[in-house]
Amino acid sequence: MPFSSLCRCLVLLAVCAGAVLAPAISHAQAPRVTVRAPLLIDGKGGVVRNATVVVSGSTIERVDMAADGPATYDLAGLTLMPGFIDVHVHLDWHFGKDGRADNRGETPVEKMLFTVENAYVTLMAGFTTVQSVGSPSDKDLRAAIARGILPGPRVLTSLGAITDVKLTPDEIRAWVRQKAADGADLIKIFASKSIRDGGEPTLSQAQLDAACGEANAQGLRTLVHAHSPESIRRSVQAGCTEIEHGIFADAATLKLMADRGVWFDPNIGLVLQNYIRNKARFLGIGNYTEEGFAYMEKGIALNMAMFKQALATPGLKLVMGTDAVSGADGHNADETIARVEDGQPAMDAIVDMTGDAAESLRMADKIGSVAPGLQADLVAVEGNPLDDITALRRVVFVMKGGKVYRNRR
Ligand SMILES: [Zn+2]
Repeated sequence: MPFSSLCRCLVLLAVCAGAVLAPAISHAQAPRVTVRAPLLIDGKGGVVRNATVVVSGSTIERVDMAADGPATYDLAGLTLMPGFIDVHVHLDWHFGKDGRADNRGETPVEKMLFTVENAYVTLMAGFTTVQSVGSPSDKDLRAAIARGILPGPRVLTSLGAITDVKLTPDEIRAWVRQKAADGADLIKIFASKSIRDGGEPTLSQAQLDAACGEANAQGLRTLVHAHSPESIRRSVQAGCTEIEHGIFADAATLKLMADRGVWFDPNIGLVLQNYIRNKARFLGIGNYTEEGFAYMEKGIALNMAMFKQALATPGLKLVMGTDAVSGADGHNADETIARVEDGQPAMDAIVDMTGDAAESLRMADKIGSVAPGLQADLVAVEGNPLDDITALRRVVFVMKGGKVYRNRR
């Protein structure tokens, strides 16, 4: 054996031995708790009956079947799942002191406190990880929650979004590099107009090539707001990694996303319904006009039809995001419920908000399923969501990273 290969072998041995020993040592030191439930949905499409999840510190050590003896948390009658994930929220959007969405005259401190409230209600609804796309203030929120005192979901953020159609490709590349340097987890891009303005393409192929090309070079994922088939086609062509909304997506664009392995996050169950429920709080602000609301009212049926076609598209990778804006925080599971009511099998819809969502975030080795070595993010609901998907609204237990934030029976 040449010396270099021998060296590599010894290094590998040392690394392997370390990998075996390290968890054993940390388990011996970390406090261990057990969570037992009659049904566990694992986030990967499987179920375990009479499961006991053994949690060591912040991570899952193992899942035992039919264990006896007392459990730290005996969740009789409940269904246990991985912590839920929403890949598209806006935690800073809120109704201000006057109940309106434009937040006139608000101080940055007031704004952040409303944001913290949104983070809290989102976690209490079982969402232990969210991707907040649009606000620079998410950076401080992400850090504050990560310190472990403030109750909120794990936050990923784009810190901003590319919206300016006048930017040159070079300016776009520089913008992406700056966001990477600032600590963005991903890049958010608007490739089409809002649904309230008709949803037509805004960025050119060259602009999208620059945005998603540079993001790929920086190792960052890209979330693209795109309603029309042409804006979706350009984004896929540019190598962008996830498409949001897609209300006018047709069979050809859905197939294109499937063929290119691009994630698709149609937001069919919460965002438009929430705008319409809260019309008086938005009306008169920017493009929240009567005409804009008319588009949104028509949009609900268009979304439902588009989603049926998405379900019928072989190989299309769906993921769960809500686009939760003011008034929607804490109702995130409505999206999954709507998808099931529109024809998606309940197990698939649950995987889209757990295991698939984690994969879309490139975090499947940390979150999204109940498996040894992953973060102990566990949620329990009353009832069985495989039989009645509205059980997702009845969250009674929330653990994030081994810490219990909610335990109400
Ligand atoms: Zn959004």
